[in-house]
Amino acid sequence: MASESVSYWQRTAPVFLLSTDMPHSVDVAVIGGGLLGAATCYWLAQAGVRAVLLERTALAAGATGRNGGFVRAGTAGSYPQAIAHLGQETANAVMEITYESRALLRQVLQEEEIACDYREPGALQLAITEAQGEQQRREVETLRTDGFSAEWLDRAQVQDVIQTPLGPEILGGRFLPGQGLVHSARLVHGLASAALRHGARVYQADVYELGRDGNHVRLRTSQGSLSAQTVVVAVNAWMSKLLPELTRVIMPVLEQMLAYEAVAPIFPTAVSVNINAGEYMQQTPSGNILIGGCGFVAPNAGIGVWKSLPTSVVQEAIEQVLPRIFPSLASKLRVMQRWAGLLGCTTDMHPIVDYAPTLPGVIFVGGFSGHGMPFGMRFGQLLATAVTSGYLPPALSPFRLDRPSLERWELP
Ligand SMILES: Cc1cc2nc3c(=O)[nH]c(=O)nc-3n(C[C@H](O)[C@H](O)[C@H](O)COP(=O)(O)OP(=O)(O)OC[C@H]3O[C@@H](n4cnc5c(N)ncnc54)[C@H](O)[C@@H]3O)c2cc1C
Repeated sequence: MASESVSYWQRTAPVFLLSTDMPHSVDVAVIGGGLLGAATCYWLAQAGVRAVLLERTALAAGATGRNGGFVRAGTAGSYPQAIAHLGQETANAVMEITYESRALLRQVLQEEEIACDYREPGALQLAITEAQGEQQRREVETLRTDGFSAEWLDRAQVQDVIQTPLGPEILGGRFLPGQGLVHSARLVHGLASAALRHGARVYQADVYELGRDGNHVRLRTSQGSLSAQTVVVAVNAWMSKLLPELTRVIMPVLEQMLAYEAVAPIFPTAVSVNINAGEYMQQTPSGNILIGGCGFVAPNAGIGVWKSLPTSVVQEAIEQVLPRIFPSLASKLRVMQRWAGLLGCTTDMHPIVDYAPTLPGVIFVGGFSGHGMPFGMRFGQLLATAVTSGYLPPALSPFRLDRPSLERWELP
């Protein structure tokens, strides 16, 4: 039985051939061919560093190639939740980082001529209960007070955005203007190609183990041994396999999606709704609607799972979402593809960037908790600075391992 499903993004991205004739020694090795690995390698190459990117199977094989393609500024939870976890000042700084990241994304896509369907139509979160509406209105107020754009749309205004009749439950929604949508696999391919043009190398190599070898880090891989001065581990959900001390700090959690065959334009923006604790969808420029979420219909079943395979209970729940919120769409929807991916989750839902506690020369980044796209470009740039300067830039302080809100996972 297959241990991996294939996503819409993976199926619609061109093939990217990885070479296998890996050298024995490099200055910097970046492990993981998702957004974080590709972005870090890109910025290292831009800075003139001799860097290699090592990916176990194919670029965008992990969460990046399987996601919803939302590039929504801010943290995984709401802004008020971030304030509760991190405090006002840090939550604000985290928000700023994601806006900086979006500006970098725009800049790099233009400079490197990367075609990945990137657009900024905004993100609409629908409210289907009075309590959700109240919560969203409060969030809009808090965001605006802190200088970020956000609007509350009433039902009629939401109907102006959605080009199909709304279901009766929809009361309105929180709209965040300018938020992005992207073809995630093409983005990673484009960044890796740009990194190659700037002198980096990209190899297919499964890294089995990290250790010390004198002043260097030794990597035991499927392509033989490699020695590097510095290693950046960007394997997200798989972190504990390479850095066992992070077991129960970054936990793999299964998340699922499906794609419908193309239909006429229905919604230009990112859309999310909270039926089973967070469902999200985008319609691609080709007309396919991609929708995911519903993990909470099988509580705990996805925690600690390693295989990216869809399950019928969650897929059936996902299939009920669109007919419920936009009933007249129901007869037009035909599922064309189902897939699953692994999130790397932390208990406070914020990513971690830090030095590996027991392995000098190793920096790791991960734990995006289902929300890594808005951080990728800026984190990659900050990680490249950490490598070249020898210290973690202060902008990464809120994401370190010793923050008070971060706990260890208790397994059910
Ligand atoms: C279904 C789903 C929907 C999501 N939707 C969104 C969304 O809409 N917006 C958003 O912001 N976030 C979303 N996310 C989360 C987002 O995709 C991640 O936060 C982000 O892609 C993390 O990027 P990454 O590069 O850290 O990790 P990944 O993309 O997971 O990349 C890690 C890479 O490391 C490789 N690897 C692992 N172990 C090794 C090894 N030992 N040696 C070599 N290579 C190795 C893997 O093959 C993989 O390619 C979603 C995730 C999923 C699964």
